Amino acid sequence: MTRAVIALGANLGDRGSTLRAAAAAVAALPGVRPVSSSREVESVALTLDGLDTTKPRYRNGVVVVETELEPQELLDALHGIEDEHGRTREVRWGDRTLDLDVIAVDDRRIDTETLTVPHPRAHERAFVLAPWVDADPEAVLPGHGPVATLLAALGDDTERVDEPRLFDQRDAGAGATP
Ligand code: ATP
Ligand code: CA
Ligand code: CA
Repeated sequence: MTRAVIALGANLGDRGSTLRAAAAAVAALPGVRPVSSSREVESVALTLDGLDTTKPRYRNGVVVVETELEPQELLDALHGIEDEHGRTREVRWGDRTLDLDVIAVDDRRIDTETLTVPHPRAHERAFVLAPWVDADPEAVLPGHGPVATLLAALGDDTERVDEPRLFDQRDAGAGATP
């Protein structure tokens, strides 16, 4: 069993519903058990040209799971969930209905053509760190340190959304917080 941290993002469609449906789909994957989840945050779209206030804003969240899946198997399953939500891939960092990234898997380091873990840009993204620390206040990003410390150093430019945590609390395990 490994513990995996997954970041969710959306800036097209009914973003909140998509994030909650995607979190439920992750929790329902064979070989995956929900542990804890964040509330949602909202932030300005990040594009290849930097922050872009003319683009639809993002909703982001983080879920923590325990899984028997190998990290690449988990990513393949996440791509399936993205596809079910109409994810298309045209422009790098372009608008999307759903993005699911593997942020960390225990303290494993993976670097293949299709998977880099920890996610190489997680440490510089408040929209990943803020919900992650909400889901797991003690979280540590391997190679970078405590997530709460990283977020404090970076500055939190996200806004908390007044919605419940992404996992239905009936699905979440012992690590869940109210
Ligand atoms: P970013 O990686 O900067 O967040 P993105 O999420 O927009 O950008 P995508 O177009 O969704 O990038 O994914 C491009 C490829 O990144 C995927 O096909 C996948 O193989 C690869 N990839 C490598 N490491 C990871 C990871 N940790 N999580 C998700 N995808 C990854
Ligand atoms: Ca991403
Ligand atoms: Ca992605």
